[in-house]
Amino acid sequence: MAETGDKPTLVRFDGVAKRFGAVTAVDALSLDIAQGEFFALLGPSGCGKTTLLRMLAGFETPSEGRILLDGVDIGAVPPHQRPVNMMFQSYALFPHLSVEGNVAFGLRQEKVARREIAERVEEMLALVRLQGFGKRRVGQLSGGQRQRVALARSLIKRPRVLLLDEPLAALDKKLRAETQFELMELQRKLGTTFVIVTHDQEEAMIVADRMAVMNQGQLAQVAPPAEIYERPNSRWVADFIGEVTLIEGRLGDDGRIRSAFGKLRASATDAGPGATVWLALRPEKITIGAERPASADLDAVAGTVFEVGYRGDTSLYKVRLADRSLMKVAVANTGTRGRPTFAPEELVWLSWPPEAGVVLVR
Ligand code: ATP
Repeated sequence: MAETGDKPTLVRFDGVAKRFGAVTAVDALSLDIAQGEFFALLGPSGCGKTTLLRMLAGFETPSEGRILLDGVDIGAVPPHQRPVNMMFQSYALFPHLSVEGNVAFGLRQEKVARREIAERVEEMLALVRLQGFGKRRVGQLSGGQRQRVALARSLIKRPRVLLLDEPLAALDKKLRAETQFELMELQRKLGTTFVIVTHDQEEAMIVADRMAVMNQGQLAQVAPPAEIYERPNSRWVADFIGEVTLIEGRLGDDGRIRSAFGKLRASATDAGPGATVWLALRPEKITIGAERPASADLDAVAGTVFEVGYRGDTSLYKVRLADRSLMKVAVANTGTRGRPTFAPEELVWLSWPPEAGVVLVR
């Protein structure tokens, strides 16, 4: 079971499986999410993220296992009685109602006193920075404002857990980036546990305290974003999150990896001599140069530039190595001429300090 550290566990998936006919969407999965945590679910399309979220919300029933909230099995609790709310990608706002009407909806249904509703709506609108917008119709709002109405509406009943299914997908890139920080601030202010599903790994890494990378209904790795990026536990995770070059080799008695490029130094590993391993190198940890670096503290391979992708702040080089494989190298464009330093077909040396590589055994 994934640990939640020193924070108390709020949500526990205990051996949860969900099958749709012959399809196993979620496969005997166990996971703890802590009180007040901002947790992200990430994985390729069809890996079971949404199904996991829908089971927590109560829209789907597990085929196996239990879901506990504060230690209590919520299997028999219908969705509207769970202290869990879900904000959908489409927001599902009522177009004929005002902003106030939308935000107040949940409380009106519960017959909360008029005055309390007014107070809580005002409080929520202030929290999402929509003071003065209460009387507007939803159709008269920008995309970003609609997104905030949806947030206010899903938080007004003070759920213990807010589930966010691609909450920022409808926003353009710039607004999305701003809204990510607003979402984090809101979560910190309220202390509510947020669970987000997103296709955007950068977004998940920005907002989340911890994230789960899912593959085929199972958890591939659960850890804080930086740990997943810097210490992936498998080739699959290393390749799914960010960009990576994997060099295959065999671990020698001296702890070095015998590869197609000679002996390469490796960071600490549990693998024993003779084991097949892969050295995983992130593009930004590799230096590109015209000559072999003089320092014996670096490992180096030679190659020819295959292509260069200009990305504004960085350029991504793909360099063809002796075994025909491609190594990816990111170079920060700190100069002002915006021109890549090396052109296709140029001979280059790629080097890295031994601690830059992570040794993977699977
Ligand atoms: P995406 O990122 O594309 O939204 P996901 O990771 O959220 O994907 P799920 O929607 O949870 O994936 O689906 C997991 C698997 O279960 C898929 O193979 C999907 O086709 C299947 N599935 C989901 N819901 C149903 C359903 N109601 N009936 C049959 N199969 C379903």
